[in-house]
Amino acid sequence: MEAFDIKLICRLCAREDESCIQVFGENGIKHNISKKIRLCLPIITVAEDDKYPKQICLSCLKKLDTSFELYSGCMNAQNTIKRLLKKFTQIESAKDNLPVQTPLDRVQNDVSFIC
Ligand SMILES: [Zn+2]
Repeated sequence: MEAFDIKLICRLCAREDESCIQVFGENGIKHNISKKIRLCLPIITVAEDDKYPKQICLSCLKKLDTSFELYSGCMNAQNTIKRLLKKFTQIESAKDNLPVQTPLDRVQNDVSFIC
């Protein structure tokens, strides 16, 4: 079996790349890599104390950023849709609570207007 250096392997694509960014290093923290992986790739866990690689390559970082952008956009859209649905439901239920005027009510209103 071929020898490999786990410190050069990308955690996300398993390719060897010397320009990998450390997930828990200064750049990794600045880019929120751990959080982005947790949110966008919940099947992958990256922990400081596991035996897996703790770095990702620049190509995967770019893809992760794009995925996170999609994730964030979807979360915002979900909140907007929830707000709209709530507002729409309130309007609809307010309409349902409006008193229904019967023809007799209308006549009485007209009469009170005349008197
Ligand atoms: Zn990679």
